[in-house]
Formats: sequence, C-alpha cells, structure tokens
Amino acid sequence: MDRAAQAFPKLTPAQIERISSIGHRREVRPGELLFDVGDQNTCFFVVVEGEIEIVRPSGDLEEPVVVHRAGEFTGEINMLSARRSLVRARAVRDGAVIAVDRDDLRALVRRDSELSEILLRAFILRRVALLAQNNSDMVLLGSHHSGSTQRIREFLSRNGQPFLYQDVETDPGVQVLLDRFHVGVNDVPVIVCRSGYVLKNPTVETLASQLGLTAELDVKEVRDLVVVGAGPAGLAAAVYAASEGLDVLVFESTAPGGQAGTSSRIENYLGFPTGISGQALSGRALTQAEKFGAEVAIGRTVVRLDCDSRPYRIHLSDGQEVRTRTIVIATGARYRKLALPSLARFEGAGVLYSATYLEGQLCKDEEIAIVGGGNSAGQAAVFLSGIAERVHVLVRGPGLAESMSRYLIQRIESTANVVLRTRREIETLEGNDDLQRVRWRHLDTGERETRDIRHLFLMTGADPNTGWLEGCVLLDDKRFVKTGADLLPEDLAGAHWALPRRPYLMETSIPGVFCVGDARSSSVKRVASAVGEGSICVQLVHRALHEL
Ligand SMILES: Cc1cc2nc3c(=O)[nH]c(=O)nc-3n(C[C@H](O)[C@H](O)[C@H](O)COP(=O)(O)OP(=O)(O)OC[C@H]3O[C@@H](n4cnc5c(N)ncnc54)[C@H](O)[C@@H]3O)c2cc1C
Repeated sequence: MDRAAQAFPKLTPAQIERISSIGHRREVRPGELLFDVGDQNTCFFVVVEGEIEIVRPSGDLEEPVVVHRAGEFTGEINMLSARRSLVRARAVRDGAVIAVDRDDLRALVRRDSELSEILLRAFILRRVALLAQNNSDMVLLGSHHSGSTQRIREFLSRNGQPFLYQDVETDPGVQVLLDRFHVGVNDVPVIVCRSGYVLKNPTVETLASQLGLTAELDVKEVRDLVVVGAGPAGLAAAVYAASEGLDVLVFESTAPGGQAGTSSRIENYLGFPTGISGQALSGRALTQAEKFGAEVAIGRTVVRLDCDSRPYRIHLSDGQEVRTRTIVIATGARYRKLALPSLARFEGAGVLYSATYLEGQLCKDEEIAIVGGGNSAGQAAVFLSGIAERVHVLVRGPGLAESMSRYLIQRIESTANVVLRTRREIETLEGNDDLQRVRWRHLDTGERETRDIRHLFLMTGADPNTGWLEGCVLLDDKRFVKTGADLLPEDLAGAHWALPRRPYLMETSIPGVFCVGDARSSSVKRVASAVGEGSICVQLVHRALHEL
C-alpha cells in the first residue's frame, strides 16, 4: 500500500460496524462545520454517506487539504492527545457520519489491534504531512540573536507543531505583521495565530497550554504512578505501566524524547539498522504511551517532591500539586554545554557529546578537537587518535593531573597526534549547515587561533536534573539518585527506611519511588539502557503498589 493510501485508508464494512458500536450516527447538512482550527477534544468522524472536506484557513481563503468520502475518517495525532486541531472539517453535501468521542476512540484502539494499526498509522502520517507542508496558522516572529526565540523555536519543532518563522532582522514582510498585531520589535519572540491569539515572549508553560499539549489535571485524583520526565526512560515506563492497566500521569518540562530527542540520528538502538532520528523515535513512543491511556502533560515542570506525605505529593511550577502512590524519576541529565550562542545550531551537525565507534567514523583523517579534562575526554582522545589525523584536547586549567587518570595522561603524552592545549577556551563556532571552523583563545595571553575543525567533542560531564528531589531521596556525591544495591545499610538507616525488605532494583531510599535512566547513579548513559530500565521498573512498581 502506498503512503497516500496508508494516510487516507478506506475502512471495510466490518471495521465501520465495530466503530459504529461505540459511536452514534448522525446526518450532516451541506456547509455544516464538524470542527474548526483551534478546537480541542474534537470527535472522530467516519463518513457513511456524502463527503467531508478538510481545509486550512489562510487569511480570508481556504486551502484544501483532503476530501474524505464514504468509508474514510477524520483526525490526526490530536485524536490521542488534547492538542488543538490544525484544520477545519465541513460537510460538502447531505450525508451521514458516525461520531465517536475521543476517549471512546482511545479505548477502541487499545483493544482492537486491527483498527489500532490502521488508525494510528494514518494519524502519524497525516501529522507528518501537515508538518512537511508547514500547514499551520501559527507564525513565530523572532530574532536569530535572541535566546528566547531559539527556546520557543526548539519547543515548537520538538513538539511536532507546524509554524512559520519570520525573523525581524531579515524578513522584509515582518513589519506588516508586527503593525497588524500591535506588537513591537522588543516584544519578540511573539506567537501570532491567525485564528486569534497573540502571545508576547511566552513561557513554555503558557505556550504548551495554548497548544493543548497539556491537559487539565484532575488534582483530586490519586494516581497509581506519576512519571517525571518523558525522555526514553520515562516514556518506556509510561508505555509499560499504561499497557498493564496502571493509571499513569507523565510530566515533561520541555518535549518528549529528552536528550535523545535532540539527536539527529540514533544508530545503535536495537531494531533500526539504518538509524532513526531522536524526534521520530520519541514521537512514536509518545503515541504509543497515549494509545495505552497514559496522560502526558508537556510544558509542566516538577519543582518539588513531598515524600513525607502518603500518598506522595508532587509540586508543579505553576503551584498545582498532584498525589500519587508511586513515582518513577526519569528526569535524566543535562550535558554541560559551552555558553556559545551558535552551539545549538551545530549540535548533531559537528558538535558531539559521545565518542563511540560511530562518531569515530565521522572523523577519519580529520583534524578534530575535544573539550574536557576528565577521563571521558581522555578515553575519547586515545580512541579518536587512531582514526583522526590530529586531535586537539582543550582544557581551561593548567594541565590534566587534577582531573584525569595517570594512565590516560601517559597515553595522551605518548601519542604523537594528540596535542594538549591548556588554558584554552572556545570562542566561536562557524559554518553553514554543519560546523566548519572553531576558534579558541588562550586565557592568559589572549592569543587566538582558528582551525578547520568539522567535529568537536564536548566531554565536560553531565549534571543530573535532580534539584527538585532536594531533601527527599538519597543522592550520590555527583547528585545522581542512588538506588537498589547502591544503597548501603547506613544510607537506609539515615533515610529512615522502614520496610523489612531492602530497596528493589532501581528503587530509591524512599519506598515506591524509583529512578531510571541517566538520572540514576551508575547508570549507562544510552537510549537502550534508559528504555530497558524504564520498562523493567514497572514490574517493581506493581510490587510496591501491592505493599501499600
Ligand atoms: C546530542 C545527543 C546525542 C545522543 N546520541 C545517542 C545515541 O546515538 N545513542 C545512545 O544510545 N545515546 C545517545 N545519547 C544519550 C541518550 O540520549 C541518553 O542516555 C538518554 O536520552 C537518557 O534518557 P533518560 O530518559 O534517562 O533522560 P533524558 O533523555 O535526559 O530525559 C529526561 C527528560 O526529563 C525532563 N525533565 C527534567 N527535569 C524535569 C522536571 N523537573 N520536570 C519535568 N520534566 C523534567 C527533561 O526535559 C527530559 O525530557 C545522546 C545524547 C545527546 C545529548
């Protein structure tokens, strides 16, 4: 079946019959609006007779998207979440549809594997097509010099939200838009939606709520499980927990996928021999979690855990709090980054955070640079010296003795093509689509040097996102969460561990609170291990729930 037929399939009479059993049939009149751009929680419609046209309003005009005929159905990825509709649906002539409530549709795709495959594939392909055509009435007015603009651009792109970008510095037509919506250049970034609203320099939380990326929370409910963080570890926990019938709520401050979501191509994840982009992997995982009934609230940051109360209380940045019997901490880590405005542009396009065989293949016979003076930088230098022509190791300090193991220092010293450059700081990164040149400066003499370097490895360590756990669960000396066998008897005594058993694998010093993925002390920092830990811990969450 070709892509168009998969995006717009025709259901069989037997399939329509199964959908009819959970929906209701109703007549439609020519011109009748079934849903409009910006509507939230719209119904799912199967055309029984007649035609439903899908259009995208553009100013006073409408651009046709598709016409659904008998046996075809409306909807895209917003059918599984609270996202607002990007299109308008209208009956072309007299006819009839089966209307299905969104929650009933979600229940249907959970139990009917044949319809699940047809509908989910169509929904995903339709969103991909809307993104490719940039089918949106949303315009982001920003400046390429503004960090806030970059933050909003990244947020929209990583959340699969189509938008048109206009730069106030370079786009000639932008002044007309600024005047029309009464916003000034100093207000940027500004989100303008032709359907009505204008957001000046919005927070991620405001934007997420406007887009329907975060559902209204029922704060009275006590959840079985709250997962904090929707990177690979958190999404895996959500998929397994929801598919096993637990009531799961996931909080994600930025976008599903976490660090992996920023990778242009993941080539070492099982089952994807030609690689998969982090965004595609996380988009699928999110759909899977939502299909099984997990509630995923994007743009919601957890700021504190109250572990003295039972059920536990999770506090959000907007002041709301949610109660839950168990928790999976999956907030990952942040690679320490260089404070350079152009860094984000070259991440995955020359700037790399790991030095495996895969990255090594990219720099055959090249001149490359590694920033960092720890063991990971040393290992990378030794490994890459066998592949690259020349390896510059840049450190801010006067040498490596303070931070790197002696054996690695000796290897670096005895490898002719590794050049240690102490007291150096990177000043600029240059290139078009990919990194092409790097300039650094000597911190004492101010002397500058520019080299044709197309691959720069940042090995300056990672900081765990565990500030919100302050005073609750036990952390190691680098602030990663201690779990399972890493918790020594004295740790447990200090944490007032009250159960007769020891903590389960991946359980923290607080019963029923688990930690998976990069935030966990001594974890392997890989997508596959994060996914593995997220899925395994659900078995232990079940056990903890039985004990409570
Ligand atoms: C550029 C890059 C490329 C990579 N490429 C590869 C690769 O090719 N192969 C590989 O195996 N590994 C790769 N890695 C490593 C891999 O991405 C990580 O090991 C993996 O993503 C860890 O998953 P995680 O779910 O534990 O944490 P993360 O991916 O860090 O996800 C944590 C999530 O929690 C959210 N969060 C944090 N704090 C809060 C809070 N207080 N409230 C709500 N949400 C919060 C964050 O926004 C984030 O989305 C790469 C990493 C980077 C940075």
